[in-house]
Amino acid sequence: MRTLVTGGAGFIGGHLVEHLLEQGDEVLVLDDLSTGSLSNLRTSRRHPGLEVEIGSILDPVAVNDAVGRVDRVFHLAAAVGVKLIVEHPLQSLRTNIHGTENILMACTEKDVPLLLASTSEIYGKNTADKLSEDADRILGSPLKSRWTYAAAKGIDESFAKAYHDEHGLQVTIVRLFNTVGPRQKGRYGMVVPNLVGQALRGEPLTVFGDGRQTRCFSSVNDIVPAVVRLAETPAAVGQAFNLGGQHEIAILHLASRILEITGSHSGIRLVPYDQAYAPGYEDMRRRVPDNAKARELIGFDPQTSIDDIIAGVAAGLLNSVDEDDWVMSQAGADLQVATS
Ligand code: UDP
Repeated sequence: MRTLVTGGAGFIGGHLVEHLLEQGDEVLVLDDLSTGSLSNLRTSRRHPGLEVEIGSILDPVAVNDAVGRVDRVFHLAAAVGVKLIVEHPLQSLRTNIHGTENILMACTEKDVPLLLASTSEIYGKNTADKLSEDADRILGSPLKSRWTYAAAKGIDESFAKAYHDEHGLQVTIVRLFNTVGPRQKGRYGMVVPNLVGQALRGEPLTVFGDGRQTRCFSSVNDIVPAVVRLAETPAAVGQAFNLGGQHEIAILHLASRILEITGSHSGIRLVPYDQAYAPGYEDMRRRVPDNAKARELIGFDPQTSIDDIIAGVAAGLLNSVDEDDWVMSQAGADLQVATS
């Protein structure tokens, strides 16, 4: 099986590539390295089944060429992370809408099945006890850049459904809820690596707002196998599935767990949203997935606790080498890298 992973040099993409290579796939990665890094592929770099193409999903020639060489596609390439999206809404909109349509068109034309990675962000401010896949979306003004990611991903899903309904595209959508793990970077705003990094450096942990907002964090080690199972389940085609953690935790409590697990003496600093992001920023108070649909179809039952997730992120940060040095010294030698 030859599999294309767009965004394969990203945090989740790198873990997915590792998993696919282990199960015997040959993997082609298409990534523009905008937020991804070849260091995310460091564990796979010597695998003969891995090939990396440095190119953008906004380039239809690169997309058509890559899709034409494989049996299936996992589309993870996107502009992600609240910080990046708030600071660069135009780039985020273009990549997430036009880039995804390029993938949808190429897969339709070449009759290649597609797994589309979407996000819990699409539910917006809906604070329901458990968000099922058909829950309403409650989004803020389209003029507030925070909502551009949710808006773009919502359009991606609608596009995917339309290509499925009107042109027979075999597409399955997964909505990922706060996936966390080793090699995730804090620099794009993700809270767990950001706070764990602060704890390890002895800096105060920056908790935004009052810290009572909640999330359900899941381990990338639980999410990646579920994504692959769904892609390999014919009954999933044409549908969307939530994949998230089972336990809700307030960000302030998360910060205390991080201090305890890392043994750090850093304090916690509450930062008003207006200082953390641009004035007028709106956060989600709560985001809890209903995983019943994935549980019933593929037995999805994520078991990694938040404490184990934090410990894994901390261990990853402590073991990380200087990435730029690694890329310069190793990437050319070990990876089959091409630029388009
Ligand atoms: N957050 C925080 N400190 C940080 C980064 C994020 O308190 O250094 C908060 C953020 O405001 C949100 C939660 O943590 O309430 C999760 O943020 P993240 O960006 O990881 O994911 P998302 O907002 O997409 O759920």
